[in-house]
Amino acid sequence: MKHNNTYGALPHFYIDKLVVCRNCGKEEVWPAERQKWWYEVAKGNIDSEAVLCRSCRHIEKERKDEARRVHQEGVTGKRMRK
Ligand SMILES: [Zn+2]
Repeated sequence: MKHNNTYGALPHFYIDKLVVCRNCGKEEVWPAERQKWWYEVAKGNIDSEAVLCRSCRHIEKERKDEARRVHQEGVTGKRMRK
């Protein structure tokens, strides 16, 4: 009996894929070479596909950088008030 078990298996080829951004709902093409990079270089989870479009990923990154900066300033500020 042949098992059709794809667990842990990577696709043997990639095709450009249309993904819908979970944040803004914008459709964006996830190019085959980016998929390959995601799975084989970044070791991305096979289930966590590109769910944010390019601009949302950028916004998300900015937001995290800003949060980190504010946090660091907050820590410094507390020290200074003392
Ligand atoms: Zn988006």
